[in-house]
Amino acid sequence: MSRVIPRPTKTSAPYWAGCAAGELRLQQCTGCQHIQFYPRICCCKCAAKELRWIAASGGGRIATFTIMHQQMADEYAMGQVVALIDLDEGPRMMSHVVGENASDTKVGDRVQVQFQEWGDGVTAPVFTRDRVNTK
Ligand SMILES: [Zn+2]
Repeated sequence: MSRVIPRPTKTSAPYWAGCAAGELRLQQCTGCQHIQFYPRICCCKCAAKELRWIAASGGGRIATFTIMHQQMADEYAMGQVVALIDLDEGPRMMSHVVGENASDTKVGDRVQVQFQEWGDGVTAPVFTRDRVNTK
């Protein structure tokens, strides 16, 4: 399967390095403490330029999702679960839900980050549903 390969920028490089190290990194403003994703050059709440990288827990909850039922391009395989995930730290991020029970995904499910080799040396975050959702 071909995939769209992310290209790290100067701003996002620490995020991608975190993924390669098995750590989901978010930016936190050193002024107002706001935590944000995706990586930016300044705080999206107060515009301060002093940001630090923090390690997220990797836990979150499904805000919404879709399952690809038509293959519109080689990069988007049928059956993929694409979700918006509210991370426990606050930011919302788009990712994939993977694993044998991914097609049972429901809004509100607890998920946990995993990391996958995405291609061209880039590691990307994906999520699996917590076992508590499958009872
Ligand atoms: Zn701020």
